[in-house]
Amino acid sequence: QQAPAMDYLAGLNPEQRDAVLATEGPVLVLAGAGTGKTRVLTTRIAHILNQRLAWGSQILAVTFTNKAAGEMKKRIHELVPNFDGMPWMGTFHSVSARILRQHAELVDLKPSFTILDTDDQIRLIKQLLAAENIDEKRWTARGFAGLLDTWKNRGWLPKDVPASESSVFANGRLPNLYADYQARLKTLNAVDFGDLLLECIRLFREQPDVLAEYHKRFKYMLVDEYQDSNTAQYLWLRLLAQGRPANEANICVVGDDDQSIYGWRGAEVDNILRFEKDFPGAKVVKLERNYRSTANILKAASTLIAFNEGRLGKTLHTDVAEAGEPISFTQVYDSEEEARTVGEEIEQFQRLGEPLNSMAILVRASFQMREFEERFITLGLNYRVIGGPRFYERKEIRDALAYLRLVAQPFDDLAFERIINVPKRGLGDSTVNMLTATARHQNVPLLQSTRMLVETEDLKPKQRSVLRALVAQFDDWSYRAESLPPYQLVEQILEESGYMDMLSADKSAESEGRKENLKELSRSMEEFETLGGFLEHISLVMDRDSAEASDAVTIMTLHSAKGLEYNTVFLPGWEDGTFPSQRSMDESGRAGLEEERRLGYVGITRGRKRVRISAAQNRRIHGLWQSAIPSRFIDELPPDVLDVTDRGSAYGGYSYGGGASSRFNKADPFESVYETPGWQRARAQQATRKGGGPLTIEGELVARSVDLGSQSSGFEVSDRVFHLKFGYGEVMNIEGNKLTIEFDKAGTKKVLESFVTKG
Ligand code: ATP
Ligand code: MG
Repeated sequence: QQAPAMDYLAGLNPEQRDAVLATEGPVLVLAGAGTGKTRVLTTRIAHILNQRLAWGSQILAVTFTNKAAGEMKKRIHELVPNFDGMPWMGTFHSVSARILRQHAELVDLKPSFTILDTDDQIRLIKQLLAAENIDEKRWTARGFAGLLDTWKNRGWLPKDVPASESSVFANGRLPNLYADYQARLKTLNAVDFGDLLLECIRLFREQPDVLAEYHKRFKYMLVDEYQDSNTAQYLWLRLLAQGRPANEANICVVGDDDQSIYGWRGAEVDNILRFEKDFPGAKVVKLERNYRSTANILKAASTLIAFNEGRLGKTLHTDVAEAGEPISFTQVYDSEEEARTVGEEIEQFQRLGEPLNSMAILVRASFQMREFEERFITLGLNYRVIGGPRFYERKEIRDALAYLRLVAQPFDDLAFERIINVPKRGLGDSTVNMLTATARHQNVPLLQSTRMLVETEDLKPKQRSVLRALVAQFDDWSYRAESLPPYQLVEQILEESGYMDMLSADKSAESEGRKENLKELSRSMEEFETLGGFLEHISLVMDRDSAEASDAVTIMTLHSAKGLEYNTVFLPGWEDGTFPSQRSMDESGRAGLEEERRLGYVGITRGRKRVRISAAQNRRIHGLWQSAIPSRFIDELPPDVLDVTDRGSAYGGYSYGGGASSRFNKADPFESVYETPGWQRARAQQATRKGGGPLTIEGELVARSVDLGSQSSGFEVSDRVFHLKFGYGEVMNIEGNKLTIEFDKAGTKKVLESFVTKG
């Protein structure tokens, strides 16, 4: 019988074809974004099936998300219409879960075991800490969960944790806690997320015959986004590949060291180097032609990433003759104007025939999503949020809203039930049941029944005093609600209720994000004068049909955008402190910033036709305006592919070749303020808050925009200059848009050029 045709090879370039046809033996495809790595993997599977080298069920393909696996399946069906058996496809975790269910008894589980979510896990750890009399204020459950996660990512069982690691928590009692925790999971017939891999590894190590079964089964293994695998995942892979001598293992991994963005979760870029060592003779394929993006986008991404040290080094080029649109960089007044601008552009592209599906907004942190969501709801633009709930559906936001609802409407029992023990107040089910029973019996709301009960002896003294204090707090907040602006009220409630303390005690990665979301909530309330008005607005926003529209703009974090592509990509919030994140800037060493830069690279390379970057010049933080500085990464983009627009600066913007800013009058800063609506509101707010005096916010008014068009500065060393805050001085040194100035009074300081005028 003749071998079936291999039409699927027709569209591939020679290197890609090489990688597809080299089915036998280890293969490492190391290549930049958009060079067809994922396409190679998909075609390789199609080829194996088409050539009948294996049944579907003898192929294991590991993808970054389960959704990516689904798409790969669809594509394979298009390439090879008829084949037997579906390949095993999914994430490391989903494939591990499938394996574990088949051999559950061998790792002391029943096949029906549950996979704990974070909340369950935290509750369990809290019980353990309490049983051990460990002070939960000093050693938090979340902190412990974080350590567990780190260790599990490294593939450590309780016995493997080195003493030096374990001594940090609860005075060295940790190794036992880890063992206790695992034992407790077993009695619950449960595993946590990290266990899926770890228990699988244990299974493979302790049960050679089971491992041998999988060696026989998986004739071909493939891994996408290999640069983000962690040690446990690497061990897992290596065990599965050991059925043959290392140099004959049919394992193909594809990755890009420049897109490694999960270091904070234990990913090891070194796994790429390790691969060549552990699988000697591996065929290394480099793909250099990018099929996704325009030349301008590629140039921007390559120039940016070149600022990182210690790269494995790759080149990228495109054969497309046209450079494409420039990368736009727009400075706007604030994040509201940013959302408005993006909304306008999206509508414009839509009118030109671009489907919403082809556009995405990629943010650094999830708190940035709120402004876009609200804007799109106002515009009636369909959108979807990937990788997390919509802003107002997040847990911490719902908690905060519950407090506010209860302040505004004391009869809101659902709100009461939500927050009665959040943060923990030591109220057990029996207390809550008593409140509920009384409320029902007396036919009053819960807050009212609580008010009644705290005056009696029905409750135990401790619970009584806790509840009495809570009722008093609500009375106080209701009173304050009459006079305080809502955004201040919510901040006070979150502080006084202990909610913020609860988040501060929480050392997990999410807690920072939760705090940022709450700050964003408070910011979003600034435009409302009354609590009632705000809650009305929220109920309208939240009431929208959340059914997924078929054509919708995507909003997601840069992290979850890996592997995806869109015609138009919006990258908002490129300001120091937002992107790169404050945390990465505070860190000593370059690792944090380099990971942020890789995120920037991932973001830019998601774009096919256009990339639109923006930065707000001002952020509201606790009701005060603070000026923000454009991301340092902007300085690292090649000026010749950058098109800079300034929509936000108050006056005297630099003229970028006759851009919008040139019409501002430099002579009189206070008369010719560029009045954007955001600016008008800011001014109005400022006036009411500061008693109508002169505008005292420094920086914004006189800020010129940063000179981005050319990296050269408008200043020269030894220029005499004036800075609004530090006064007169002399330029000592110039680095891009940063000046080192020796001020007459303030000493030597490094300042941004945009805040300096020739003096
Ligand atoms: P990333 O690093 O972002 O995951 P990647 O290397 O996996 O990117 P793919 O997503 O596989 O790249 O491919 C990028 C785009 O280029 C896709 O739209 C793909 O269909 C297209 N493509 C890949 N190879 C070719 C080719 N030989 N001819 C035409 N288009 C191609
Ligand atoms: Mg890919």
